[in-house]
Amino acid sequence: MLSGKTALITGAARGIGKAIALKLAGEGADIAFTDLALSDATAQLEKELQSNGVKAKGYASNAANFEDTQKVVGEIVAEFGRIDILVNNAGITKDGALKRMTEDQWDAVIAVNLKSVFNFTKAVQPVMWKQAGGSIINMSSVVGVSGNSNQANYSASKAGIIGFTKSVAQEFGIRGIRSNAIAPGFIETEMTAALPDEIRKAWIEQIPLRRGGTPDDVAGAVLFLASDLSSYVSGQVIQVCGAMNC
Ligand code: NAD
Repeated sequence: MLSGKTALITGAARGIGKAIALKLAGEGADIAFTDLALSDATAQLEKELQSNGVKAKGYASNAANFEDTQKVVGEIVAEFGRIDILVNNAGITKDGALKRMTEDQWDAVIAVNLKSVFNFTKAVQPVMWKQAGGSIINMSSVVGVSGNSNQANYSASKAGIIGFTKSVAQEFGIRGIRSNAIAPGFIETEMTAALPDEIRKAWIEQIPLRRGGTPDDVAGAVLFLASDLSSYVSGQVIQVCGAMNC
């Protein structure tokens, strides 16, 4: 479905980003991925991606940093020649009751989750504009739609992503560039493994499908938005949540 296309995925060393990279490579896309640092694990991921017969390369970059992003996107364009799919996936949590939330907790989450989406979209848009096409996919969250106690910073960042996504869809539609968001529910990754067992159990009991999602469940929705299957879908938020919060 994606042969001849290049996808750029942020925060793909593990979790949902890694599953997305593997899914898109499996459909023939060349893959440029970023994370904060390169490691044995990212070298292994490059090899795994390349085993699909595609080009794949990892880059160390802090998605929250504007200059870093300009630089890495320049390197990726020089190496791959084009960018057809941008998946803004990098994200962090720094949860806590608002009463106790520090300015640092607020700033870090807004910078990594929301400013990164601005940074990468801004750096990639001239490339897509020139190509007269592209698909931008931003990783929001169900709590960006519904809010969540103890996650005021995270929910605000993920709600901001939805406003950004819809605005970009309206601004870039004229060049055939689509922009959509995915709002995952409770997905079993290292991010959620950090939660205490009783909280994880309580989340799962609220999910009509009675299980946490897998990174591959999210990657399937990304493939739909990345491919021509969704050629007339833009400005949307797809919740991948097992009917939680619906
Ligand atoms: P994860 O913590 O397993 O992976 C996130 C990756 O992003 C890590 O490899 C990390 O190193 C990288 N990263 C963090 N800060 C970065 C930065 N400044 N620059 C570049 N890379 C950075 O998380 P995950 O569960 O795979 O989540 C991926 C995305 O999905 C995040 O945006 C998250 O908010 C979102 N999401 C996750 C869930 C869930 O239940 N796991 C639910 C909704 C949304």
